[in-house]
Amino acid sequence: EQKQLGIRKPRVFSTELKGKIEASQMILEGLQHALEKKQLYLCYQPIQSAKDNTTWSFEALLRWNFDGKFIGPDIFIPLAEKSGLIKEIGAWVLNRACMDAKHWQFNQRAAVSVNVSVIQLMDDGFIRLLDNILRSSGLPPERLHLEITESTFVDNEKKIRTQLQQIQSRNIHVSIDDFGTGYSSLSQLQTLPVNYVKIDKAFVDNIEGKGDAIIRATLFIARELNCKTVAEGVETRAQALALSAMGVDYLQGYYFAKPMKNEDLIVWQNPISNFPV
Ligand code: C2E
Ligand code: MG
Ligand code: MG
Ligand code: MG
Repeated sequence: EQKQLGIRKPRVFSTELKGKIEASQMILEGLQHALEKKQLYLCYQPIQSAKDNTTWSFEALLRWNFDGKFIGPDIFIPLAEKSGLIKEIGAWVLNRACMDAKHWQFNQRAAVSVNVSVIQLMDDGFIRLLDNILRSSGLPPERLHLEITESTFVDNEKKIRTQLQQIQSRNIHVSIDDFGTGYSSLSQLQTLPVNYVKIDKAFVDNIEGKGDAIIRATLFIARELNCKTVAEGVETRAQALALSAMGVDYLQGYYFAKPMKNEDLIVWQNPISNFPV
C-alpha cells in the first residue's frame, strides 16, 4: 500500500507541475524577446473624478501579443519579476507612458498612472531612471503617478520608504494598488508615504455584501492618513453611485471605459454624461 502511494503521488504531482513549469518557461523565453520584437504595447484606462466625471488620470496597462496569442499581465508580470526581466520591461513602460502622456493634445491635465513593481522600486537605479525619463520626455512630474503593485513579497520596508521619499520630493504621486489584497497592505500604509489608496475590484464586486464594510473602513483609514481614494473595477452605475455617495474620490472601471490603445484615446468620448447625478 505504501509503495502504491509512493508511485501515485509523484505522478499526479509531476504531470501537473511539469506542465506549469514548461508553460512558464515558454512564456519566459518569449518574454525575453518581446521588447526587441515589438510585441509589447500599452493600453490606457481612464480614472474619473467621482465629483464631476472628468478624467483625472489614464492608467497604463501593459499588453503582450506573443505571436498572435495575447497573454495577460497577471500571468507574465509575476514571471518578469521573478526573472529580473521586470527592470528592462518596467523601464520601457515608464518611458513609453511618459512620452505618450506628453503628447496627449486632447488632455494636458490628466496624469498617467504607471504600475511599478516593488522589485523595480527597490533597484538602486530607479530614481535615476525616473529623472532621466522625466527630462527626456518633458512630462511635468505632477502628471506622473506611480501605482505600487506587490505580487512578490519584498521585505525591505526601509529601502522602499527612502525610495518613496525620493519620488515624492520630485512631486510624483504614489498609490498603493489593490489595497486590502496584498501581502501587507495595512502595515504598508502605516509606514510608507503614499498619496492614494486604490480599493481593489474584489471589494467593489461585493459592495452589496461585506465589501461595503471593508470599503467604508478603508475610506476611514485613508482619510485619517490624508490619502485620497480610487476604486477600481467599477462595472455598473449602481456601484459608481454607491462609491461616489460613500466619498470615494476617483473611479475606474468598465462602466466608464475599458483600456484603450493610445491612438484611440483621442477619439474617446466619455459616454456617461449623467454621472454622478
Ligand atoms: P491593476 O493595476 O490592479 O489593474 C487593474 C486590472 O483590472 C487591469 O487588468 C484592468 O484591465 C482590469 N480592469 C479594469 N476595470 C475593470 C472592470 O471594470 N472589470 C474587470 N473585470 N476588470 C477591470 P490587466 O490590464 O489585465 O492588468 C492586471 C494587472 O497586471 C494589473 O492590475 C497590474 O498589477 C499588472 N500590470 C499591468 N501592467 C503593468 C505594468 O506595466 N507593470 C507592472 N509592474 N504591472 C502591470
Ligand atoms: Mg494598477
Ligand atoms: Mg489595482
Ligand atoms: Mg486589482
